[in-house]
Amino acid sequence: MSRLALVGAMHEEVAALLPCLADVRSERRAGRDFHFGRLDGHDVILVRSGIGKVAAAITAAVLLDAYDARALLFTGVAGGLGTGVRVGDLVVATALLQHDMNAEPLFPRFEVPLSGVSRFAADAAWTARVAAAGRRLVAGRATLHEGLIVSGDRFVATHAESDGLRALLPDALAVEMEGAAVAQVCHDFGRPFAVVRTISDRADDDAHTDFQRFIGDVAAPASRDIVRAVLAAV
Ligand code: SAH
Repeated sequence: MSRLALVGAMHEEVAALLPCLADVRSERRAGRDFHFGRLDGHDVILVRSGIGKVAAAITAAVLLDAYDARALLFTGVAGGLGTGVRVGDLVVATALLQHDMNAEPLFPRFEVPLSGVSRFAADAAWTARVAAAGRRLVAGRATLHEGLIVSGDRFVATHAESDGLRALLPDALAVEMEGAAVAQVCHDFGRPFAVVRTISDRADDDAHTDFQRFIGDVAAPASRDIVRAVLAAV
């Protein structure tokens, strides 16, 4: 039976969903706890990937190869980069890029060599579902943005660094540490995925404080609510 995989990087991002699962059975593999259960009538696998591109890639590969997940939905938090992308807003990825991938001059900057891609497209149907659910969820209190999310193995927490990213990638809406790795794995396996992030900080000199404040109170319910809103619409 092929399940929908629900993935978050941090404890807080999956902890709120775990109590919502029925008929839970957990299995440990590659140092992660994969929780199998039913959520609002859907067969799901819930897992915390850990932070960073490699952690996310391992998790995605196990989900697709060992557990044959039919699609991946990644939720979590991110730093806002685009103008008008504020703390509390939602960003749904239409494409994802690894901002720290650079094999120049052998390959164009940002291109992942074997995949031959720099901007990995998220699945259009899943992304549309997530965006529709997210838009209903935040209506009247925050904005939902759709576009490019960039990922790298750095917590971007200075104005200098976020300005640098904006200069290189002017259409990037948000920066995080996992999405584009999941995108690469799903691309190589030919499996659909979507990424949705709540903005926890502006990837600037205040990012660390904003992030800490946000992650406890807001991130967990935000991830739970968006997942349930998506499942209700599938
Ligand atoms: N110090 C933190 C580290 C979290 S890393 C801790 O104590 O746990 C930040 C996580 O949130 C990553 O999973 C990443 O995807 C996301 N994120 C949020 N804001 C970010 C930013 N400004 N730059 C990079 N990743 C960010």
